[in-house]
Amino acid sequence: MRGFDDLQAELDEMRKEGTFRQLVTLQSEQGARVVINGREVIQLSSNNYLGLTDHPRLKQAAIDAIEKYGVGTGSVRTIAGTLIMHQELEKKLAAFKHTEASLVFQSGFTTNQGVLSAIVSEDDVVISDELNHASIIDGIRLTKAARSVYKHVDMISLERALADTQHYRKRLIVTDGVFSMDGTIAPLPKIVKLAAKYDALIMVDDAHASGVLGENGRGTVNHFGLDGKVDIQVGTLSKAMGVLGGYVAGPQVLIDYLIHKGRPFLFSTSHPPAVTMACIEAVNVLIEEPERIEKLWTNSEFFKQGLRSLGFNTDKSETPITPVMIGDEVLTLKLADKLLENGVFAQGIVFPTVAKGQARIRTIVTSQHSKADLEQALRAFEKAGMELSIIR
Ligand code: PMP
Repeated sequence: MRGFDDLQAELDEMRKEGTFRQLVTLQSEQGARVVINGREVIQLSSNNYLGLTDHPRLKQAAIDAIEKYGVGTGSVRTIAGTLIMHQELEKKLAAFKHTEASLVFQSGFTTNQGVLSAIVSEDDVVISDELNHASIIDGIRLTKAARSVYKHVDMISLERALADTQHYRKRLIVTDGVFSMDGTIAPLPKIVKLAAKYDALIMVDDAHASGVLGENGRGTVNHFGLDGKVDIQVGTLSKAMGVLGGYVAGPQVLIDYLIHKGRPFLFSTSHPPAVTMACIEAVNVLIEEPERIEKLWTNSEFFKQGLRSLGFNTDKSETPITPVMIGDEVLTLKLADKLLENGVFAQGIVFPTVAKGQARIRTIVTSQHSKADLEQALRAFEKAGMELSIIR
């Protein structure tokens, strides 16, 4: 089509090399098993860590909110779109995270963009782990601040970056709490020490740690006993919390500033009542049903050990995110297809989501999986891995 020849050529190239993908479509609700192409398969690709996407209490909270408040808010937060439940959720999240205040954004992605683009400028530097999420990378691109990237969780590399950037007005270290493609945990105690030594601020994106690590899933900061020692905590409401949205938790001054300068907050319509009330209920469930988190971790250990004893390389994963490292993109996608044929939905992750040569199958177990589900999934991995000579 006229004007799109370059895009077409790139897509044709992807088709030729076998990396063009159709979207996988679910024909059921999320859960330990989902329906794809009319067949029930084991779900190992969602971030629904605690099975909250269809929790009866969250669903009822959403239904009640629709009945009482309707389906939309009709405005951005700063004009006429702040409803009573937005503030209730923010108070709840601040208490949950042990911070003074919090602010909800439309998604985790826009939270990182909104925070980073607002709080640093041309006199400052952002010091970022090389494997940070795309929303952090894009958030940094939106600022005029300088950027320094350190090697993944490498504290020697971080210290060098801090030492080299002393001439900037403000240094902001930013890291994922749990890394979304590797399942590694940021070494926050060491980062906190280095930040104190070099007078830097710390921002942690706990998208994959909220609901997973720390007391009742409070996240990595709480997990390491560092409440009050990390300046900015970002979280998402779309993964373990089962709904949609993102938030930042921190000091009141930061939140007041973001209400005035956080661009997605200022210029995009607020969350509908149903979403917001379901998120409030998600926090209640985290506090009242800690057994979900225990089950998540039991499942995670069982599955990770199972993959390792089959001979798969799961790299340094320490959390329920377990990558099965393959390297080659086409082989990775072939493995994903074979797994699906064998009743397991585990997505192949390729460039640009991960670096070239680092293609992998990313698995995420949830608290909803039974031992039988996980054993069946391991058998499917064994069969597909042998057929493709990835394991022997
Ligand atoms: N940060 C990290 C580390 C993530 O993995 C994700 C989700 N892909 C996000 C932020 C964005 O969160 P959301 O999906 O809520 O926009």
